[in-house]
Amino acid sequence: MSSRSGRSRSATDLATLARRVVAFGIVFGAPVIASTWVREQAHDPWVRWVYPPLGIVLLTFAWVLTRRPQWSQQAALTILVLLEVGWIAVTLGRVAEKQDAESAWTSLMPTPLLAVVVCLMVGFLFQHARTALVHGGVYAVVFTVVLATSLSGLPGGADYVRQSVRYGVYLGVFLVLLLVLSRAKEHVSTAMADAARADATASLLRDMAYLDELTGIANRRRLLEELGHQAGLVGPAHPVSVVYFDLDHFKQVNDSYGHELGDQVLRVVADVTARQVRPGDVLARLGGEEFAIVLPATARDDAVELAERLRRSVPLEVSARVGHHVTASFGVTELNPEEPAASVLRRVDELMYRAKADGRDRVQWMA
Ligand code: GH3
Ligand code: MG
Ligand code: MG
Repeated sequence: MSSRSGRSRSATDLATLARRVVAFGIVFGAPVIASTWVREQAHDPWVRWVYPPLGIVLLTFAWVLTRRPQWSQQAALTILVLLEVGWIAVTLGRVAEKQDAESAWTSLMPTPLLAVVVCLMVGFLFQHARTALVHGGVYAVVFTVVLATSLSGLPGGADYVRQSVRYGVYLGVFLVLLLVLSRAKEHVSTAMADAARADATASLLRDMAYLDELTGIANRRRLLEELGHQAGLVGPAHPVSVVYFDLDHFKQVNDSYGHELGDQVLRVVADVTARQVRPGDVLARLGGEEFAIVLPATARDDAVELAERLRRSVPLEVSARVGHHVTASFGVTELNPEEPAASVLRRVDELMYRAKADGRDRVQWMA
């Protein structure tokens, strides 16, 4: 069962998602950067000088994602800020080399302006929604102001200052959309973490209700439930057998070697037995040193065979693993249709006591 809290789990999920999205961006972004550089570096100095370091940054980030995932959050934020500053520098540089505002604006469409949008999106992948909103908002305002100011100094700049302001407003709307989506994603993630925690709690309660704490096998409640269930199914085509056993002179083991060793013997017995039953069988510790197995679709003779196998193997395994010789006495019977659990347990208990009376370390069954 997971012991991670919902909060850390949802943070991990978000980080994994963010890493995947950025990895996807790198796989597609790197070829685009390379091909643009090949095509345009001859006549565009910005592409010639800016794209190679950009490619190196992306590849370095890819290395961080795959080799040092613990640094990826910090690396992503550092790279994001570098890219943001870089795009402002590129924009300023492009505008500065043009003679008029129209050609400056055209040279910015679409790549550098699109890059701002990408920066805003990446911010939401790596930051909490509110932080990303503030971060993206500040960047959108700074970028818009820089763009408008630089265009205003060129002939025909007034029109493009207005365009820049419109562009800034669009960025604002886009940021709000990103915020809404991101908050929804955070809520879904928290809800999923809560559901997983509730699931884990339910499964813990189920375990506590149905499992024996010492051995980890089923407990008496689970066995009684299974007997009730099988009593409704049992018939000529579906025999159900019950094997019941009690360790011999177990009190002496405790008295001579201590309770701790007694517990260890009980765990080994449960383990050895569990490995010899089929997946559909229910092995339970009824209490003390008493165990029972419900065997669906098993006739009594096959159940007696299993009991004999256990009678021989349990002492060998216990002796090999704990260093003491411990035997057990067995009772075997078949469940009758609609028979109450208490009735079949009484019968099989009597058979087991007959085995004790006959000298222990033997199997008794109902003829
Ligand atoms: P018999 O062959 O007649 O069954 O003799 P026995 O000594 O096994 O029978 P009895 O019922 O008198 O003793 C059962 C002992 O099992 C008593 C107790 O010391 C021990 N026991 C019961 N529950 C536990 C447990 O959880 N851990 C350990 N270590 N011992 C337990
Ligand atoms: Mg006993
Ligand atoms: Mg007993």
